[in-house]
Amino acid sequence: MLKAIRGTKDILPAEAGMWQKIEAYGRQIFSIYAYKEIRTPVIEEAALFIRSIGDATDIVQKEMYVFSDRGGRNIALRPEATASIVRAYLENTLGQNQAVTKLFYIGPMFRSERPQKGRQRQFHQLGVEAIGSDNPLLDVEVISLAVKFLEGLGAKEFNLKINSLGCKKDKLKIIEKYRAGIKPLLGSLCDECKERYNKNVLRVFDCKNPKCGEAVRDIRLKDPLCPECSAHFESVKKGLEGLGIKYETDSKIVRGLDYYTKTVFEITQKDLGAKDAVCAGGRYNDLIKDMGGQDTPAVGFAFGTERLIMAVKEDVSQSSPAMDVFIAVAGEGLDEKAFALMDTLRGKGILCDMDYEKKSLKAQMRKAQRLNARFAIIFGEEEFKGNKVALRDMEKGSQKEIEITDIVKEIKAR
Ligand code: ATP
Ligand code: MG
Repeated sequence: MLKAIRGTKDILPAEAGMWQKIEAYGRQIFSIYAYKEIRTPVIEEAALFIRSIGDATDIVQKEMYVFSDRGGRNIALRPEATASIVRAYLENTLGQNQAVTKLFYIGPMFRSERPQKGRQRQFHQLGVEAIGSDNPLLDVEVISLAVKFLEGLGAKEFNLKINSLGCKKDKLKIIEKYRAGIKPLLGSLCDECKERYNKNVLRVFDCKNPKCGEAVRDIRLKDPLCPECSAHFESVKKGLEGLGIKYETDSKIVRGLDYYTKTVFEITQKDLGAKDAVCAGGRYNDLIKDMGGQDTPAVGFAFGTERLIMAVKEDVSQSSPAMDVFIAVAGEGLDEKAFALMDTLRGKGILCDMDYEKKSLKAQMRKAQRLNARFAIIFGEEEFKGNKVALRDMEKGSQKEIEITDIVKEIKAR
C-alpha cells in the first residue's frame, strides 16, 4: 500500500474544522488591519530563494526542495513566502498607487528537514508583509497583529522576544564583533557551527544544538547599533509599550534568513518544547532593492500553522458542524423521492444527508443519532401516498406527519 511521503500529513476531517477556524480568524483579523490576501505559486525559480534567503543559510543549503523540470529549469518548492511575495510585488508593480502595500498569505511551505513533532516537510504558514515604509509604527503594527492573533485564538503563556540587527552597515559590524567573540570558543562548537563561523556567523545563535547555545550564551555586544537604528529600535519598544504589549529584548534573536535588517522578533510558547517558535518575523529593508526594485523598506511575520494548533490546543472534535437533517427511507422505491427532497433542502442551505446502503429503518435512525442530527425526515410508503413524510425532532423525541411541500418552512421555523 502507498503511504504519504515522510514529513507530510493528511489533515483529516476531524482536524479540518480547527484549520478552517484558524484560517478564517486569520483572514478576519488581517483584513481588520487592512492587509489584503495574495496567493503566489508553490513553485518558483530556485534562484529566487537562493538570492533572497541567502546561499549560506540552512534553508537554502540543506532544506530546500529543488528539482529540474522537464524543460531543464531549476525549480524550488517554496520554503517560505516572503521572497515570492516580493517577486510578485515587483512583477505586478503592486506598490505603484500606494505608499504602503499590506499583504497576507496562507498556504503550504516545503523544507526537507528531519521530521519530528512540530517539524514537517510540508507545513503551513499564515503571514503578513507590510511593504513600503521604515516607520517604526509599522513594526509595532505587525508585531501587535501577531500578538492579537494569538490572543484571539486563546493561546496563553507565549513569549515575545525582539531584537534589532541594525542597518546593513550595523549588521556587518555585528557580524565582525561576533566573529571575534566566537573565535576563542570554536573548539566547543559543533562541526556545522564551525562552518557557520566562516560563512555566516549569526547562524551560530540559531543552532539547534544546545551545546552551541551554551557556549555562546555570554557573548554580549556593547552598543551595536548606529544612532539612527538605535532610535528606530527605541521607537518600536515605546510603541509596543504604548499598546500594552509585553516583550523581552534578546540580542541572540538573529533569524535564520539573510534578508533581515533592524527589527527581528520571535514568539515562543513553552508547551511547544524544543520547537517552541510559533511565529517569527522582522524587517527586511534591503531585500526589495537587492531583488532589482527601488529602495523599499518592509516588515512581516510568519506563523507556523501546525505549531499554532499545538499552542492553542483546542478540542478539535467540537469544530465540525452537526447535521441539520438526516433523511431516512422506509419504503420501496422512495429513494429517489428522498434524494430529490434532500437536493431541495441543500438548496435552502440546510445541512443534510441520507443513507446510501439500503439499511433497515432502525439502522438509519441509529445513524441519524450518531451524526447528531437535529431532525430526521422519514419517508414511509403510506405517508408518501398522501404526499406526507414524518418529521422527527431528534432532541425532543417527538414526531409528526407533515406535507412535503411544508417541510422547508417547518424546519426553518424551528
Ligand atoms: P525553526 O527555528 O523552528 O527551524 P525557522 O526559523 O526555520 O524555525 P521560519 O523560517 O522563521 O522558521 O518560519 C516561521 C515559522 O514557521 C516558525 O516559527 C515555525 O512556527 C514554522 N516552521 C518553520 N519550519 C517549520 C517546519 N519544518 N515544520 C513546521 N513548522 C515550521
Ligand atoms: Mg528552521
